[in-house]
Amino acid sequence: MTPEIKAIPKAELHVHIEGTVTPEIARMIAKRNAIDLDPDIFSEDGTSYKWNGFIDLVTRVYQEMARGMKTAEDFETIMYDYLCRCAEEGAIYVEPSGSPGQCLVSGISYKDMVDGMARGMDRARKDTGIESRLTMTFERHRPNGAESDAELILSYKHPYIVGLDIAGGEQEGDLVAFEQSYKRVLEEFGRPIGSRAHAAENIGPVNGWDALKRLPLNRMGHGVRCIEDAKLIQELIKRDVTLEVCPTSNILAVKEFPNFKSHPLRKLFNAGVSICLNSDDPGLFGTSIGNEYQIAHDEFGFSEDELLAITRNAIAASFAPQDVKEKLLLRIAP
Ligand SMILES: [Zn+2]
Repeated sequence: MTPEIKAIPKAELHVHIEGTVTPEIARMIAKRNAIDLDPDIFSEDGTSYKWNGFIDLVTRVYQEMARGMKTAEDFETIMYDYLCRCAEEGAIYVEPSGSPGQCLVSGISYKDMVDGMARGMDRARKDTGIESRLTMTFERHRPNGAESDAELILSYKHPYIVGLDIAGGEQEGDLVAFEQSYKRVLEEFGRPIGSRAHAAENIGPVNGWDALKRLPLNRMGHGVRCIEDAKLIQELIKRDVTLEVCPTSNILAVKEFPNFKSHPLRKLFNAGVSICLNSDDPGLFGTSIGNEYQIAHDEFGFSEDELLAITRNAIAASFAPQDVKEKLLLRIAP
């Protein structure tokens, strides 16, 4: 990162906590739990993950790495490590998502996972000043688990949990299997929480429309293929839905946008949709929130003022309590 980009206050709303884990942290935690991770998920020199295509990454590599994370202490370590790295890059707010699905992968209890993350968030705030909150996510590849995931999310309403998400490999019209459980969590959580879902990432505008129709969305994860439908763009603006755009992740995962030149980040911004910048799975993709801001500057020509406006979008669209948002906005220079 250049000093100018590093100095810009940043905020991130789309990052999966398991996806933040670097190979070094993954090995350290697995060793602590006496788990032997398959060495084939790492590169020869051990500094990055090794994968053969996006599906291989999110199924085999992701699952194997997450298998080692079993205790509250593990999630405290992961969260603290990630938030400190973000603070070092100038981030003032991060809203990571966790998933009840992790409990199936490693056997950790839902309460331990949430408590561990919350402790990491508290320690990072104390040591660096960075603010953070959590969202919880349903997983598209487990439609049969929607109701049991809803039960888990409703079983422990930690005050740091401020929103709900649906993530995972996208299929056309796949939200229908989650609609009932998702709405049940929103209704029964006992206080208002925000609503977001990954959509229009791998599947085109039809899934953007479907997400708007089925869920009371405040934000859409990725949403990059909404650019293919001008009416949908107008609808997003009308409903004040923010798109959580993840440039590096998108060029790896979305075949329509194989490089930055073809990616619609600039077009979305110029169309007037509220967007923010995100790293999605930075440990896996070898990126960071700072790097995504740098990419927006270098590859898409975003000025420092435009990047600041993007941070303001993110704070405004975050699900943090109002008093926290106000304090964060004060930390952004005019
Ligand atoms: Zn994501």
